[in-house]
Amino acid sequence: MTGNIKAGIDIGGTGTRLILRDETGILATRTIATAEFAIIEKKDRVDALASHLLSLVPAGRMLESLGIGASGPVDTTLGIINNRDTLECFSFFPLVDELKSRLGIRVGIDNDAVAAVLGEYYFGAGKESKRLLMVTLGTGIGAALLENGKPFRTGDGQHPEAGHIPISGNPATCYCGLRGCWETLASRSWLQQNLESLLPDVAFEKYDVNFYKSVALQRDDVAHVFHQYGNYLGRGLATLLTLYGPDLTILSGSAAHYYPLFRAGLEEALYRADAYARNNCIVPSELGDMAGALGATMIPELG
Ligand SMILES: [Zn+2]
Repeated sequence: MTGNIKAGIDIGGTGTRLILRDETGILATRTIATAEFAIIEKKDRVDALASHLLSLVPAGRMLESLGIGASGPVDTTLGIINNRDTLECFSFFPLVDELKSRLGIRVGIDNDAVAAVLGEYYFGAGKESKRLLMVTLGTGIGAALLENGKPFRTGDGQHPEAGHIPISGNPATCYCGLRGCWETLASRSWLQQNLESLLPDVAFEKYDVNFYKSVALQRDDVAHVFHQYGNYLGRGLATLLTLYGPDLTILSGSAAHYYPLFRAGLEEALYRADAYARNNCIVPSELGDMAGALGATMIPELG
């Protein structure tokens, strides 16, 4: 029996996914609705999280470390989540220190976009990449870059919130305070709202890419929404490709499933003259929803 079980937790506004792995692979996984933690007293939330984790550990085995990927701004030095907008129940208290004292193991934390790109780098589509960009298209947009496996940070040690690159003169003000942010126009939320307004009887989450493919063949307005979506996505992505020059870009998140439908719009927005061409190698995520929790298991290794 070995003792080296590594745990990862991916805390999102909707779901909290726990995973345990060792050198042989994944040992256990569980997803809990994050709302379940919000309804219990703040002082009991860490205990509840720790109990869920310990209940997954096989008899006779020990946890070695825990990594957490959390949605929104995270202070990785103090180990505190600062996400008033979508993750208030785990924000503004020393989550990492409290988990360390309850579990007696190493605990690290980072942004969920960093956790997801670490997952793809170590276990998924990004294994060979020296400069890996991952863009996650969900409720908002997350983006993270790894250089030889190390996360890119801003000067103050933060994770760059690339979803808030302004890409248009759209007068809508984002919750971050800027206007025309990338994620107000290229997150899954935009795609969903625009498709639902054209197809009011079709619940977006109940239909897959094949359904929308057949609708788009018959209806130009639906095809146009996907094309426009690709265009908006490409505007922000062009900035990231220009500045970062990744050798590989991974698209993830629920809207990435529609890549075949928005690919033409995306490529149109990324088109450049040969002398200015960037590496536009774009692939889908291999790990899907598991990337964040699996990548989180690597966060304590980063030191
Ligand atoms: Zn914004």
